[in-house]
Amino acid sequence: MPIRRIIIDENAGPCGGVKRVIKLAEKNLAAGIQTASLGAVIHNNVEIDRLTALGLDTVDQAEFQRVEEGGGKRKILIRAHGEAPSVFDRAQELGIDVVDGTCPVVTRSQKYARIYHEQGYQVVVIGKPRHAEVIGVLGHCDGQAKVVHEEADVAQLDPDRPTYVLAQTTISDEMWTSMLAAIQKRVHNVVWRNTICAFVSDREMELRSFAAECDVMLFVGGYNSSNTKVMYDVCRAVNPRAHWIETADEIDPSWFDDAETVGISGSASTPQWLLERIGEELARRSDSESMPPV
Ligand code: SF4
Repeated sequence: MPIRRIIIDENAGPCGGVKRVIKLAEKNLAAGIQTASLGAVIHNNVEIDRLTALGLDTVDQAEFQRVEEGGGKRKILIRAHGEAPSVFDRAQELGIDVVDGTCPVVTRSQKYARIYHEQGYQVVVIGKPRHAEVIGVLGHCDGQAKVVHEEADVAQLDPDRPTYVLAQTTISDEMWTSMLAAIQKRVHNVVWRNTICAFVSDREMELRSFAAECDVMLFVGGYNSSNTKVMYDVCRAVNPRAHWIETADEIDPSWFDDAETVGISGSASTPQWLLERIGEELARRSDSESMPPV
């Protein structure tokens, strides 16, 4: 049966933090300022390719110095995940101008982690130990905060120290609830702040109803994006015919057997133009008309 409707999720598209950092990059590049992002500015290779074509360079921590060697005109762009204070100090030492694209929601997490750390609390982040945002938050606690990702990680916590718990902004509500309960079982004195980004929580609810409307769903996002993984899992729990792709090339025609309605959505790091392009490609292949969102 041919696809009768292709629906682009009107609530999809990058979050405010990602839009902000991309605008900062574009603004500097348009002004002719050589700009290098410290780490991938967005977890989406297609969007990275577009920004690279505009002139954005990407450097890792080891290549930091290379920015200065570019002649002193280059700026370093701090992405939405934020960085540890030591990175800003290092930029200052090297005489490199910083464009701070840290998302304000992440800045708030860093601020509270620092305040509680300075007051002597054991600071605990629920999230992925190697995630850039989490590494940045640890840096605001002199590297002394603990990260818990699985229940077994809770065993490393000191049960007798006053403890402050916060979340990596992109974890699921489910993970927050279960890990917080595990911490409260072990540690006697716990204060906490749910720092999951409201954009992420709201998107979870919207996505559930969007995924339920479609026979098949294409969820578009970078394979290296935490938020994409969380959001894809949300879709998949509601609609087992959800497929995670990065580009239209990965679409398998067999996914659409007996499917009348195909929904296309994406994560906080997926540009809306990419969803539309994939919708057009799918419509072309299935000879159906791309319908406006419902
Ligand atoms: S998901 Fe939320 S916290 Fe993360 S960059 Fe976007 S707006 Fe900021």
